[in-house]
Amino acid sequence: MTIAMAHAGRNAGSTVAEINLKFLSNFIDEGQIGKDNDAFVVGPVGRLLAHSDTSQRLGANLAELPQVAATIKAGAEPVTFGLDPGGQSVLSASAEVPRMKWYVFFEQPLSKALQPVYGLLYRTGWLLALGVMLAVFAGVMMARQMVVPIRALQVGARQLEASDFGHRIEVRTADEIEDLADHFNRMADQLQGSYGRLEQKVVERTRDLAQSVSELKALEEIGRAVASSLDTKSVLATIVTRAVELTHADAGAIYSYDASREVFELAEAHALDQSFQDAVRATPTKLDESVLGLSAKKREAICIPDLSIAPNYPLKDLTLSAGYNSVLVVPLLGQDEILGALVLQRRASGDFPASAVGLMQTFAHQSVLAMNNAHLFREVEQKGRELAIANDHKSQFFANMSHELRTPLNGILGFSELLVDGLYGPLPDKALEVLERIQKDGKHLLGLINDVLDISKIDAGQLSLSLNDYSLQAIVETVVASTGSLAQAKAIEVKAVISPDLPIGLGDERRLTQVLLNIVGNAIKFTDTGSVEIRVNAANGHFNIAVRDTGPGILPEDQARIFEQFQQVDNSITRQKGGTGLGLSIARRLVEVHGGRIDLESTPGVGSTFNIVVPVRVTELRQPE
Ligand code: ADP
Repeated sequence: MTIAMAHAGRNAGSTVAEINLKFLSNFIDEGQIGKDNDAFVVGPVGRLLAHSDTSQRLGANLAELPQVAATIKAGAEPVTFGLDPGGQSVLSASAEVPRMKWYVFFEQPLSKALQPVYGLLYRTGWLLALGVMLAVFAGVMMARQMVVPIRALQVGARQLEASDFGHRIEVRTADEIEDLADHFNRMADQLQGSYGRLEQKVVERTRDLAQSVSELKALEEIGRAVASSLDTKSVLATIVTRAVELTHADAGAIYSYDASREVFELAEAHALDQSFQDAVRATPTKLDESVLGLSAKKREAICIPDLSIAPNYPLKDLTLSAGYNSVLVVPLLGQDEILGALVLQRRASGDFPASAVGLMQTFAHQSVLAMNNAHLFREVEQKGRELAIANDHKSQFFANMSHELRTPLNGILGFSELLVDGLYGPLPDKALEVLERIQKDGKHLLGLINDVLDISKIDAGQLSLSLNDYSLQAIVETVVASTGSLAQAKAIEVKAVISPDLPIGLGDERRLTQVLLNIVGNAIKFTDTGSVEIRVNAANGHFNIAVRDTGPGILPEDQARIFEQFQQVDNSITRQKGGTGLGLSIARRLVEVHGGRIDLESTPGVGSTFNIVVPVRVTELRQPE
C-alpha cells in the first residue's frame, strides 16, 4: 500500500510511504481461520487489503459485495449474509479496526455454515420418518389387535342372532374385549343350555300331546263304538286293542264274569298268545283264587311289576311261559256287581305308569257301559218281544170282543127298529121314546165297537181293503148328506167345492168315505159358529181334499198327538164334545194304506184345515207299520 502525504510550505514535498501489508495476511491465514473459511480485510472504501485466500488480488474493490457495502456505509446495519467474490452465498461477520477504518470480514460459505443445520434437519427428518413409520406400524398392529377381536365379537353376535349357540368367540387380548368375548361365550353356553332344555321340553310336550291326542282319539272311538254299537264283542275288541296300543303293552284281554259260577271267562283278547288263550279257556279263572277276583273285590287296579317274584298268582307259570313278565288288572264293576276285568300283559317287567293305570280305568268304565248297554238291549229286546206278543193278544182280544159285541148289538138295534115300526103291535108313545133312545145309544155304541175293531185289525195286520173304481165327488156328496142333519142342528153351513172333471179313483171307497166322514164329522162337531168347507181337486195323479173349519183350532203341541190312538186335546171343548180319540188315528192309517197322507194346519181361535192327499189310482195297498 502506498501512502502519500503532502507537506505544507514552500517547496513542500510529499512524503510517500510504501507499506507492505503482507503481514496482515499472517493474521488471517488458513491456519488461523480454519479450512473452508475466508477472512479478509478491506479498507475504508472497500479495497481488499488482505485475504486469507492468497489467490485473491489485493486492492480489488469489494465494495460491491453486499456485506462490505453495508459495513462501510456509515450508519448502515451490518448484514449477516453476503456473497463472496465468486458470487457464492456466505455467512459473514465483520469487525472494524478503529482509527484505520479498516474492516475485517470473517466469512464462511453458507453451505458450510448450514451443514450442521442440514445434518440436524436430515437426522430429524429421518427420525420423523422413522417415527411416522413406527407410528403407522404400531397403528396397524394396534388396529389389528382391536379390529380382529371386534370382528370376532361381531361374528359371534351374528351367530347368536342366527341361533347358532355352539359357536364360541376366540379372543386372547387379555383386556376388556376378551372379557366381553368371555361374557358372550358364557351367554352362548347358557342359551345353548336353555335352548337344549327347551327343545327337550318341547319334545316331551309334543310326545305328551301326541299321547293325549291318541288317548282322546281312542276314547272317542270307544265312546262312539259304545254309543252306536250293541255288538259287545266288537266294542270289547276295540277297547282291548286300543288299551294295548296306548299302554304299550304286549297283549291284553277282557274277561267277563259269570256270577252263577263265580268264574272269569275270556271274552276278547288282543295279541295274546294263542296257547295262553286256549289254556285260560280250558281253566276258568276263579273269583276267590285270582288276582282278577282280588282286584274286583278291592274295587281297584292291581299291578304286578314282576311276575317271577309274585307269590300267589294262579296263572303265574302259564303267563311266564307265554313270555309275559308284568301284568295290570283293572276290574270292570257295575253298581254293585262284578262284570269282569281288563288285563294287560307286558314282556318287560316293571310298573305300569300311573297315567296308563288311570287311562285303563276309563277304558274299564267304557267296557262296563258297553256290557250294560248290551245287557239293557237284551232286556229291551226281550221286553219288546213280550210286548209285541201282548199287543197281538190284545188286538186279537179286541177284534174278537168287538166282533162278539157287534152281533148282539146289531140284533138289539134290529129288534128295536121292528118294535118302532110297529111290527109287534102298536106301542105307547113313552115306550117309543125309550126305544128311539135305545136306537141312538145303540148306534153310537156300534160306532165305537166298529172303531175298536178297525184299530185292532190294523194293529193285528188284518185290515183287508178292496180296491174298486170310485167317484170322489160321490163320496163327498154322501158325506155332506150324512152330516147334514148335525150341521143343520148347529146352524153350520157345510160347503163342498169340487173341481169339475175329477178323474175316477181306484181305492177302497167304503174306507175313504169313513175317513172323510170322520174328518168332516169332527169339523162340524168342534165348530160352534161359522162354516165347514170341503175343497176337492186332482193334480199330479193325486186327489187333494181340504176340510177347513172355523172351530177352536188345535195348539201346535197337540197337532201331532191327535193322530195317535186314544189321544184327544186335553181341554174343556173336547171333554164337552165327547169321543174316543180313535177316529183320526184310524183315518190316518187308512189313508197311509192307500199310499197317501193327512196333514193338519191349524191356528188356535181361527180354525183348522185337514189336508188329505191320496193317489188317484192306488196300485198296491201298503200294510200299516
Ligand atoms: P174323537 O173325535 O173321537 O175324540 P179323533 O181322533 O177324531 O177322536 O180326534 C182326536 C181329537 O182331536 C179330538 O178329541 C179333538 O180334541 C181334536 N180334533 C179333531 N178334529 C178337530 C177339529 N176339527 N177342531 C178341533 N179339534 C179337533
